Amino acid sequence: MMGPATVRREMVRIGSLLYERRYVVAAEGNLSVRLGGDRFLVTPSGACKGWMEIGELLEIDGEARTLATDRRASSEWRLHREIYRARPEVGAVCHAHPPYATACAAAGRHLDARVLTETATMLGTVPLARPAVPGTDDVVDSVRDLVPGAPALLLANHGVVAWGKDLREAYFRLETVERLAEVTILAGLAGGVQPLPTDLLRRLGDL
Ligand SMILES: [Zn+2]
Repeated sequence: MMGPATVRREMVRIGSLLYERRYVVAAEGNLSVRLGGDRFLVTPSGACKGWMEIGELLEIDGEARTLATDRRASSEWRLHREIYRARPEVGAVCHAHPPYATACAAAGRHLDARVLTETATMLGTVPLARPAVPGTDDVVDSVRDLVPGAPALLLANHGVVAWGKDLREAYFRLETVERLAEVTILAGLAGGVQPLPTDLLRRLGDL
C-alpha cells in the first residue's frame, strides 16, 4: 500500500505522462485515487495535467466537499464517484482525450479488443457510452449500465475513461485502449481488420 505522499507523486507523474503523450492538451482530463469509502484524491478543476504540483491535488468526499482547501475539484468528480460506487475493487480512475480512441468515440464506434492477441484477454470489448454533457449527472447516467461489465469506456464525442486497482493500472489501461484504437484505425487503412480465429481466442482465454 502506497503512503499518501507517494500517491500524490504518482498522480503528478501520470498527469505529466498524459500531457507529454498528448492524451490531453490544455486543462483536459482528470485523475483520481480512492482514499477509502467515498473519499478520493482528485485533480483540481482547470489545471494543466502536465504542470501539476503535489499541493494542488484535492481530497474530496462523496459530495465534492474539499478537505483543507478552497480550490474546486475536477468537474468530472461525479463520474469518478460513480465508478468507485459501482466497482468496489477499483482504486483509481483516469480520464483523457487520446486522439485515436477519441476519434473512434467521435465516429460513434466502440472498440473490439479481440482483434489483437495482447488485448483480447486484457480488455475484451471497450463499449461506447452515449453522448452526454461533461461534468454533469448526464455523464453518470450515460455510463451507469456499462461500468460494471467493462474495463474502460469510450465516451461518445468526448474521450476515454479507464480504471484499475491503482493509478498505474488505470493509466496502462487507458494507454492500451489508445494503442488498440490506433491499430484498429491503421488496420482499416491497411485493408481491414481480420478478427482472430475463434479457437485461438479460446486458447488465449485459457492462458
Ligand atoms: Zn473529458
